[in-house]
Amino acid sequence: MSEQPHILVIEDHQPNAMLVCDLLSFHGFRVSWAPDGVTGLDMVTKDPPDLILMDLQLPRLDGFELTRRLKSDPQTSHIPIVALTACAMISDAERAMSAGCDGYLTKPINTRELPQTIRKFLKVSTANNP
Ligand code: MN
Repeated sequence: MSEQPHILVIEDHQPNAMLVCDLLSFHGFRVSWAPDGVTGLDMVTKDPPDLILMDLQLPRLDGFELTRRLKSDPQTSHIPIVALTACAMISDAERAMSAGCDGYLTKPINTRELPQTIRKFLKVSTANNP
């Protein structure tokens, strides 16, 4: 991992994506954004990130299916995926975890929790893949 960890935000709701990207840039991460699942898959393949923030309801390829694909491919299965779920949707969080997500955050995003959660998952990932 470079000293500036690379986070890919896959989120179709642009205001939410911009908020998350700005926040992560402010905390020193390198950030990329994909507005749909197919673009996200393409970006992971071309420039593998250190962690993915994954919205679940996405056009073209939803976050559940994209997570399944990434976690079943040995080239990408090590990349931690943190799902972004709507607050009330407990079932979404459960489905995200069974699709292979490493964790989840509920929307609206808690601006203090987000960078902490990302650092935690990056640390676990580095420990598992030295
Ligand atoms: Mn969405």
